[in-house]
Amino acid sequence: MSSDNISSFIKNAPSNVANLNRELRNAKTDVLVDYIRSDSTGVVIVTNKVAQQSDLSIIDRFVKNSTDINALQVEESRLPKSKSYLKILGIPYFPHDNSQEKLSSSDVENILKQNHIFNNIALASKPRIIKVSPKSDMAIVWIDVWDVQSGLNAKLLINRCFNVGKYIATIRGANMNPGVPQCKNCWKWGHSTHSCRIRGAKCVKCNGPHKTEHHREFGWCCKANFKTNPPRLETKKGEPCPHSFKCSNCKGEHQADSNECPFWKHRFNREWHIKKYAEIRENRSQSIRSATNERPNQ
Ligand SMILES: [Zn+2]
Ligand SMILES: [Zn+2]
Ligand SMILES: [Zn+2]
Ligand SMILES: [Zn+2]
Repeated sequence: MSSDNISSFIKNAPSNVANLNRELRNAKTDVLVDYIRSDSTGVVIVTNKVAQQSDLSIIDRFVKNSTDINALQVEESRLPKSKSYLKILGIPYFPHDNSQEKLSSSDVENILKQNHIFNNIALASKPRIIKVSPKSDMAIVWIDVWDVQSGLNAKLLINRCFNVGKYIATIRGANMNPGVPQCKNCWKWGHSTHSCRIRGAKCVKCNGPHKTEHHREFGWCCKANFKTNPPRLETKKGEPCPHSFKCSNCKGEHQADSNECPFWKHRFNREWHIKKYAEIRENRSQSIRSATNERPNQ
């Protein structure tokens, strides 16, 4: 949906909720709209119960006929989806006869395509492959699949087997993404948000001690400062912060959660992360050592 559409639909959220609920009641469904919000994908209509396709059609029709909306700029509505994580065991790491070519994610995609049990399954990201152990010739393949929120697709796949050449592969549930987590509170890698140990929060943009959404109010960069040369003007109210900062992880020219960051690019490579943090620790202790040595004797 265009951003004009989103803002005019959200502006009239209370009356849109009331009118939508009248239509839903008329259709004798139990589903009612609780509230409406927007996110990066468009308008999100939150309901009291899990909506069915028939409820979605009513909502869809309402939105497209709304006077707040230019119907030409509305994409398909869809029910919320979640991802399910699965792993596949029993596929060889070197699948090609007489070749040391490793199993690739496109090999896995082809294998899945050939198997009817994956017919209605859509992958949410490229399959990821690791060796079972350094000396093993077998692979563990992680796949994320689009699923309904009850995880039904995953339930239908778990513990099923299928042939890969002469091998038999088995699907198992995986608890979570096998990648290295990035904390959404302090933006460091290697721990998840709920196990963050800093007090307060760090800004993803400037690494200052405030939540990212309050950067404009709390970040020093957007405040007027006439002592600097040239003097810094205040950022206008309602405008995003135009300043750029270095990533707090790699010091690159991007935000700490950017997909341009090498930490993000290596997010499925635990060894890389471990090595990188060891390097950072080593550099830090070296600079502390040299700072102590440089201090004049008293
Ligand atoms: Zn943290
Ligand atoms: Zn900030
Ligand atoms: Zn700023
Ligand atoms: Zn970075």
